[in-house]
Amino acid sequence: MPVADYATYCRMLDRARDNRFAYPAINVTSLTTANAVLKGLAESRSDGIVQVSTGGAAFASGSAVKDMVLGAISIAEHVHRVAERYDIYVALNTDHCQPQVLDTFLLPLVAETERRRSVGLPNLFNSHMFDGSGLPLKENLDIAVPLLERCKRSELILEVEAGVVGGEEDGIKAEGAAAEKLYTTPEDMLEVARRLGGVKGARFLLAATFGNVHGVYKPGHVKLKPSILKDGQDAVARELGSEALFYLVFHGGSGSLLEEIHEAIDYGVVKMNIDTDTQYAFTRAVADHMLKNYDGVLKVDGEVGNKKQYDPRVYLGVAEAAMAERVKGAVKALRGVGTTLRATK
Ligand SMILES: [Zn+2]
Repeated sequence: MPVADYATYCRMLDRARDNRFAYPAINVTSLTTANAVLKGLAESRSDGIVQVSTGGAAFASGSAVKDMVLGAISIAEHVHRVAERYDIYVALNTDHCQPQVLDTFLLPLVAETERRRSVGLPNLFNSHMFDGSGLPLKENLDIAVPLLERCKRSELILEVEAGVVGGEEDGIKAEGAAAEKLYTTPEDMLEVARRLGGVKGARFLLAATFGNVHGVYKPGHVKLKPSILKDGQDAVARELGSEALFYLVFHGGSGSLLEEIHEAIDYGVVKMNIDTDTQYAFTRAVADHMLKNYDGVLKVDGEVGNKKQYDPRVYLGVAEAAMAERVKGAVKALRGVGTTLRATK
């Protein structure tokens, strides 16, 4: 069972929170990038999370097909098969699903899980993320609550987001009123805890925003304030008791300082999304190969190039290794080295 089942994934999350580390959740878009994550996690002896975005899933299905659901299933099936060969657990998650693509991405994947369970097959995914952060909080939760009830019935964990994360994916610049919204308030976190906590027996994760940005910015663009998470958690513990404390997700953390990451983990972050940094690690290696082997990967001046250099396996292999190294760096930054549950058997 190298892809964690529900009980195992719950144990993973509890173990992270109790021991103050977090899992990297790495976006993948292909067999090669998925393999890179498994390699990086296994070499770190850490469990972790593979996730697929709407765009990544469409890409994975092929440019002629562009079917997000099919691509997500295809990646998940690949991970289920190859993860058997690694001595760690991996969980599968779908990333940011905005309200306008609920019907074409997240809900069909939940339906697929329901279908699989009805014929005795295990879940393909462990969790799904609904991103209603662009909506007023009440509307966000009006969608999230029934969704969580449905997810619970199939042992799926739901991730939600409150507050606005800046950056490329959301098209929000941190200026003026938007900059205010980059920080989730304790009142918002309390409201999320009250409403989602009302779905008894369900498990959910919250991405609260504390100045995070999607994509990459030069230092100084926004200021991360992990203390926002502490303020919210303190309010929740005070009003609802410590059992209502959130399991938090760190979105938009590319380029964060180590101390900010550690502070966020201390306040309950158990999952950190990583995409931009691993994208760069992958592409950096491809660029290096191409620039160093210019006259091998190209047919220059009537020459024939060098098949050993333009075979895609060569540069994708280098890229896979480089991405795996970056995954290892993420595990280390998240204090997760050697924490796999497999070691506790
Ligand atoms: Zn987000």
